[in-house]
Amino acid sequence: MSTMNTAQRGKMVNAFDPSSATGLSKQTKALVQRRAALLGPAYRLFYSDPVEVKRAKGVLLYDSDGNEYLDAYNNVVSVGHCHPRVVEAISEQLRTVCTHTRYIQQGILDYAEELLATFGGKIEHVMFTCTGSEANDLALRIAKHHTGNKGIIITDEAYHGNSEMTAGFSPSLGTHSPLGTWVRRVPAPDSYRVPLENMGHWMADQVSAQIGDLQRRGEGLAAFIADSMFSSDGIFAHPKDLFAPVIEVVHKAGGLFIADEVQSGFGRTGEKLWGYQRHGIAPDIVTMGKPMGNGFPVAAAAISPHVVQDFGRDTRYFNTFGGNTVAIAAAQATLNVIRDEKLMENANAVGKIIRDGFADLAKTYEVIGDVRGSGLYIGVELVKDRQTKEPNSASALAIVNGLRAKRVLISATGAAANTLKIRPPLVFSESNADRLLTEAKAVLANL
Ligand code: PMP
Repeated sequence: MSTMNTAQRGKMVNAFDPSSATGLSKQTKALVQRRAALLGPAYRLFYSDPVEVKRAKGVLLYDSDGNEYLDAYNNVVSVGHCHPRVVEAISEQLRTVCTHTRYIQQGILDYAEELLATFGGKIEHVMFTCTGSEANDLALRIAKHHTGNKGIIITDEAYHGNSEMTAGFSPSLGTHSPLGTWVRRVPAPDSYRVPLENMGHWMADQVSAQIGDLQRRGEGLAAFIADSMFSSDGIFAHPKDLFAPVIEVVHKAGGLFIADEVQSGFGRTGEKLWGYQRHGIAPDIVTMGKPMGNGFPVAAAAISPHVVQDFGRDTRYFNTFGGNTVAIAAAQATLNVIRDEKLMENANAVGKIIRDGFADLAKTYEVIGDVRGSGLYIGVELVKDRQTKEPNSASALAIVNGLRAKRVLISATGAAANTLKIRPPLVFSESNADRLLTEAKAVLANL
């Protein structure tokens, strides 16, 4: 058993715990020790037996002994590890010129035009950053400037970034990571426990109550921000009419609705390019990152013009690396591949195979309480008892590590860390899904 509790691990699900590590190879042990000595105590590795990666291609990772792993987890390389078109675009651009946004360059304009056409609604500008944290940080600065308010409403287990401000509204970092006094939380839309019918109104009521509290204390509401797939809350994809009543109360209070698409954007959900579009709403700001450059650091905040007008007048924005020529080349190539290879369609089809497969396993294995998700973002929630729905974190970690032993990589998420998180590159094929399901069945049978 682990001697570290969840809070001590900085509350990361599926974190390697050196104090309880047994049976590591000599080589892994040496690398883990060297890593801790050099990188310090704040980093976490995945799995009870950490994986060393040496190279990758498509949905496969290889360690330095040449062992192959099936990657059912990494969303950053959404068009597949080392996709030749992205690699070529980056290399070619790096050979040609790489500079920042204070020069006129056509590539950034072409990409911005294409990207902006995907949002619909009121979004007409895009500002580039290097990370999702920076995108959310910028979004909130703009929201505060525009509204003159400070308050932010988030979901209970949200994660929005690692900067001073975004960590201040990322409760999933654990109880030792302070939240801002201007932050209020609402429960996530737990579709396994809260009736789907009227859930949007149920959520809007929670948001309204928190708006009232922020107003009473003089903070007011700057923004409501949510990950459109509620990744760190446990992955909730339904109902799809969730956000309409929420955006209404947010706007009524003078606040902005920020859709954090860092996880759910760029086709992950299969149905739409952007997660919020599944809910049929028009946010004021959309933030994105992770899969945007298929591994190259590029992220952005896309914004409705009236919201950023006064910010642009009163201050200025520059980000040395954000939106540089190579970052844009990576982003353009990634978007081209998502379209040309019809990866949303693939995410839809293969995601359904995986969800159906786990639903089938649930007929035999009582530990599976709920299978949910959209496209290639799938949550499999494990419970001790289907009646009480009591979370079963131990089984979730046992399955994650059991699959890792079979060289299939997934993770776990949610407040209780009891939901399997399956989020492969969008190029995951039917036969990859078969391999995942076959190995999952074997692990469940041995629990
Ligand atoms: N928002 C969400 C929903 C995220 O999942 C993350 C990263 N896990 C971020 C923001 C922050 O992105 P980054 O790590 O690129 O700063």
